[in-house]
Amino acid sequence: MALVSPIKLSDEDKLETLQRLDQFRQWHSLDEKRYCLVCGEIITGREIQVIWGKRENRPLRIICPTEHCNAMPMEWVRPTDEVLIKIAEAERRRIRLTIRAGRATRSLPKRNDTQYDR
Ligand SMILES: [Zn+2]
Repeated sequence: MALVSPIKLSDEDKLETLQRLDQFRQWHSLDEKRYCLVCGEIITGREIQVIWGKRENRPLRIICPTEHCNAMPMEWVRPTDEVLIKIAEAERRRIRLTIRAGRATRSLPKRNDTQYDR
């Protein structure tokens, strides 16, 4: 994929662009947050990148600021309590797995090979 360079816009223009290109959810301020379903990050309007699109009828695109994510507005949801709980749960599950993995490594039988040779 070709490297994209985000277009620098004034806060006003950026907000206007978000409002125009995000047909799924309304933007009232650049400080509004969205939860990206693709990369699982919380992003703000300010962080969202505006880039030139490839198609002529759609000159501008807005994409997720996370590296290699490139998610589009459809994949950004409002971080409601429900969403935040899901994030917390996923995080807890991850931590629990890490703990379990750590235990598994520690509980591996330490075999003393010389013992078996005798
Ligand atoms: Zn993303």
